[in-house]
Amino acid sequence: MSKYILRLDDACEKMDIEKWDRMEQLLDKYGVKPLVGVIPHCEDPMMDDYPVDSKFWSKVNNWIAKDWSIAMHGYNHVYSTECGGINPINKRSEFAGEPLEVQKEKIRRGISIMREHDINPKIFFAPSHTFDRNTLLALKAESDINIISDTIANDVYYQDDFQFVPQQSGRVRKLPFKVVTFCYHPNMMQENDFLILECFLEKNSDLFIEFPIEKNHRKFDFYDFLIKKMYFLRR
Ligand SMILES: [Zn+2]
Repeated sequence: MSKYILRLDDACEKMDIEKWDRMEQLLDKYGVKPLVGVIPHCEDPMMDDYPVDSKFWSKVNNWIAKDWSIAMHGYNHVYSTECGGINPINKRSEFAGEPLEVQKEKIRRGISIMREHDINPKIFFAPSHTFDRNTLLALKAESDINIISDTIANDVYYQDDFQFVPQQSGRVRKLPFKVVTFCYHPNMMQENDFLILECFLEKNSDLFIEFPIEKNHRKFDFYDFLIKKMYFLRR
């Protein structure tokens, strides 16, 4: 039986407040505590449709107060390379392919903004899922982050002093993996997406787990390798 994690991407000062509120009510109803990716300094024009929410950071602190987990989701969410890095879900990145010093600067600035709002993240995931070895080095040098929510695998594993919590699906469904992270973008969700999610939560809410994920010493193994290979062959 799989365990599930719900991940919500693209929380920032400019977001679709109504949809995020709807998601919050839905998750509260079923007692599911998600991982929320916060963009510390969003400059992605995609968010220009929404007005700046002056209460955003207090909202994030309210989420923390109810045991939701917060990840740093990049720095400004602007793509500057066409690299896929070590998790090439997309051929574009804010991080992969950038020099180490540039990546360190991004992480340093992002962490500084989050700390100004009393948040010291331990979890990271990059815009478009794309990062490289230098991203891990930058995180080590500039933050207390030691957990990555991303990569394709069967279960949580440890590599390069990081805990990797795999992220395999953009919608709720049964998959033959031990730990499955479903990644949602509330800003983009339509009526039907909410209805399908609620239907799944109704039946499976007791299978959802939250951070921190229990520690083990598992390494990336052959079954993970096969799943990863199949996943990228099918794309
Ligand atoms: Zn994003």
